[in-house]
Amino acid sequence: MSSRQDKEKAVNVQVLLRCRPFSDDELRSNAPQVITCNDFQREVAVTQSIAGKQFDRVFTFDKVFGPTAKQKDLYDQAIIPIVNEVLEGFNCTIFAYGQTGTGKTYTMEGECRRAKSGPKGQLPADAGVIPRAVKQIFDTLERQNTEYSVKVTFLELYNEEITDLLAPEEISKAAFEDRQKKTLPLMEDGKGGVLVRGLEEEIVTNASEIFSLLERGSAKRRTAETLLNKQSSRSHSLFSITIHIKEATPEGEELIKCGKLNLVDLAGSENISRSGAKEGRAREAGEINKSLLTLGRVITALVEHLGHVPYRDSKLTRLLRDSLGGRTKTCIIATVSPSVHCLEETLSTLDYAHRAK
Ligand code: ADP
Ligand code: MG
Repeated sequence: MSSRQDKEKAVNVQVLLRCRPFSDDELRSNAPQVITCNDFQREVAVTQSIAGKQFDRVFTFDKVFGPTAKQKDLYDQAIIPIVNEVLEGFNCTIFAYGQTGTGKTYTMEGECRRAKSGPKGQLPADAGVIPRAVKQIFDTLERQNTEYSVKVTFLELYNEEITDLLAPEEISKAAFEDRQKKTLPLMEDGKGGVLVRGLEEEIVTNASEIFSLLERGSAKRRTAETLLNKQSSRSHSLFSITIHIKEATPEGEELIKCGKLNLVDLAGSENISRSGAKEGRAREAGEINKSLLTLGRVITALVEHLGHVPYRDSKLTRLLRDSLGGRTKTCIIATVSPSVHCLEETLSTLDYAHRAK
């Protein structure tokens, strides 16, 4: 294949694997380690013992981040080029996929409750992809000395229903339930895209504002979890940053460049495997499956160049339609635990993520 054809055929889907360190509980219980990462070789080995014999299965990814990799390492090595694309006017999407408790939210947001901006606008070491991306965006825009605007939205998808995580928070259960019933409709915008009617768009003017937005969204998720018995591990969250940059062409014409970055913290992957029609949770599990499963099918269709990409089959893929496939870049960060207690889920995460390559 010529290099030009290569480029045309190239699929911009990157799959990364991140393994978190042992938690204090896992350390206390002396849980054996079954995952070995070789960041340099981009390999992950899973040690299984079957009928008393041990053997390894090895998976290769575009990048591997073992338990000692820091937030900054992952960002600098994998995310900077994606955000540069967004600044060039393209749409890109980053997903965190994995079992509950393996570090999806840590990777995307970091510990935002503690993460007030450090001295001189520096980020705390724990800051995840979202605050780092916002900082990179503002650092670049401020250097360029052009007119620009940065807007963010933050929504939750639960049971295929959309809730705004930035809308003002209601305190009482009644008010909350009432508000929750008014989940936001997803509509076609008549230009091949979709829009969520009534979704708050916050204009952000500097990177440090992002921590209070993240905290507002997380507080709202926590309230909904307690008041409405929601299980946060079953919801997807979507944080989108839209940038408009005013540029002048050499002929003196004005041009607006628009790029969008979507950051998706997916529902726990155990919701796919344990979809069982248990205890009347069938619909809920089914609906969560719908977005996670459809996402898998959409990515497979893109990677394998199938003619039909089933975007329309779930809310999540409809929301992301303009940011998956074509000239856009997609990055999946699969997260796993090193412990033997998670082995089964880890293998299914590795299989799912590997299929996306
Ligand atoms: P998830 O969102 O996948 O359910 P969390 O992001 O909440 O998982 O992570 C579970 C716990 O593990 C949190 O206490 C988090 O701080 C910790 N953790 C996850 N990944 C890492 C990591 N790479 N380094 C240090 N701590 C981590
Ligand atoms: Mg989480």
